[in-house]
Amino acid sequence: MTGAASKFPLKLDQLPTRDKAKPQAGYSKPQSVSAAPAKPTPQPAFKSAVKPTIAPLHRQMLRPQQHLQHAHATATASRLAAPLAGLGLDSADVRRRMVRRLRADGLTNEAVLAAMGTVPRHIFVDAALVTQAYEDTSLPIGHGQTISKPSVVARMIELLMGGANARATGSLGKTLEIGTGCGYQAAVLTRLARHVYSVERLKPLHDKARDLIAPIRSVNLRMVYGDGMIGHGPNAPYDSIISAAGGDTVPQPWLDQLAIGGRLICPVRQSGGTKQVLVVVDRTEAGYQHSMQETVHFVPLKSGLVG
Ligand code: SAH
Repeated sequence: MTGAASKFPLKLDQLPTRDKAKPQAGYSKPQSVSAAPAKPTPQPAFKSAVKPTIAPLHRQMLRPQQHLQHAHATATASRLAAPLAGLGLDSADVRRRMVRRLRADGLTNEAVLAAMGTVPRHIFVDAALVTQAYEDTSLPIGHGQTISKPSVVARMIELLMGGANARATGSLGKTLEIGTGCGYQAAVLTRLARHVYSVERLKPLHDKARDLIAPIRSVNLRMVYGDGMIGHGPNAPYDSIISAAGGDTVPQPWLDQLAIGGRLICPVRQSGGTKQVLVVVDRTEAGYQHSMQETVHFVPLKSGLVG
């Protein structure tokens, strides 16, 4: 299943044939979240005889003005707590349902499932797509990119948690993500890592992700506008490296920036074809070992910056 990868950059046709890609295991077809029709709010009949009371207005006027920081927190809290438009459910319910589906699909790592259960995916998708936010589907996030399927995010992070350092500490440790996109996976990673560095090459997406993640941003995330093809040298080495975009090889800088005991996971395109396979690379004292997992479909890994 694994083999010492003597030659890097790693190409799929250099991997042993017994590592042949299996079809994506354990994933059921996307199920739609049943949309319970929202109940109309009963409107009280207007009674002209009842005088409107001024007390609430009074109280409101007397309320001291909120400090800007608190006002932001209040606005954020109401945005996160707001029922999902059209679903008639609050986001915690649909997330619990999503986690049940992930479990049924074969995901077993409780820490990963818990992280998936806490990150509000709906705040990362466009308003028009919010009803699909918890379906097991990838969705467009603009600029030709997509937010990954929840099952793929969970599966990749579960594999990452199997790295030697992660198993020893119960944490992904210092983590590098290539391809921030809208920031959803970065948010999930922050729940499981000591620190996350997330790199995006498209400036508009980098900026958008910053805004989208602001309400739940945790102190252990740093978003970097840069070319992830060269990794992120300043904070290397990393215990965990994960890429949401696939190239023809595993870029050498990622291998160099992987800590001993660290694990890297990324899609790699099969030579001569369009199919990608998830490749897991472990770095040990003795060198690198790799294994191939299921076939996947990710956006291409591209080099250079787009401003
Ligand atoms: N992580 C996202 C998915 C992002 S899609 C999620 O939470 O769903 C993959 C992203 O990788 C795209 O935004 C794309 O622009 C980015 N990408 C591709 N090549 C890159 C590179 N060399 N460096 C950094 N980002 C890259």
